[in-house]
Amino acid sequence: MTRLSTAQKNIAYIGLGSNLDQPLSHIKQAAEALSQIPQTQLLALSPLYQSKAIGPGSQPDYINGAAALETSLPPLELLHQLQAIENKQGRKRGSVRWVARTLDLDLLLFNNITLETDELTIPHPRMTERNFVLFPLRDLAKHLSPALTLPDGRSIINLAQNCNDDGIYLANS
Ligand code: AMP
Repeated sequence: MTRLSTAQKNIAYIGLGSNLDQPLSHIKQAAEALSQIPQTQLLALSPLYQSKAIGPGSQPDYINGAAALETSLPPLELLHQLQAIENKQGRKRGSVRWVARTLDLDLLLFNNITLETDELTIPHPRMTERNFVLFPLRDLAKHLSPALTLPDGRSIINLAQNCNDDGIYLANS
C-alpha cells in the first residue's frame, strides 16, 4: 500500500512592525509576502495599530499587526523566510536595537512549543510586555482561536486585557 505523506500542519503567529518609509504599505506588502512563503498559507491578518516608538531619539510612530499562518515548515526555516522578507523590504541590520526600521517580523508563537536556541526563542521573549504585540494578537485570537494561550497556559486575551493601552490606537488603514 502506498502511504501518502501528510506534511504536518503547524499554526504560527507572526508580529509585524514598521516605522519607516510609509509603514502601512510596508505592512501590507509584508502580509502579501507572508502569503507567498512556500508550504504556507496566510490564515488572517489582524487590524493594524499605531503607537509611539520606544528606543533612541525621536522616531516616527510604528504600525503593528499580527498574522496567523498555517505552515508545514519547521520553526527555523520559517524564521529564515521571515528574515528574507525583511531583507527584501530594505531592513538594515545593525548592532543597535530598537532603531527605526522598515520592517520587523517576529515569530511570536509556533503551535504550543517552547524553544530556546542562539537563533530563535519561542514564544518571542518580549511579547507579553508589549501592547503593540498583544492587541493585534488578541484580535486574531478572538477571530480564530479564543482559547489561544502561551505554552505556559496564560491566555492571550487575558494578557491583552491586563496590558496598558497608553498611546496605542487603531491605525487608519
Ligand atoms: P530584531 O532585531 O528584534 O528583529 O531581532 C532579530 C534577532 O532576533 C535575530 O538574530 C533572530 O535570530 C533573533 N530571534 C530570536 N528569537 C526570535 C523570534 N522568535 N522571532 C524573530 N527573531 C528572533
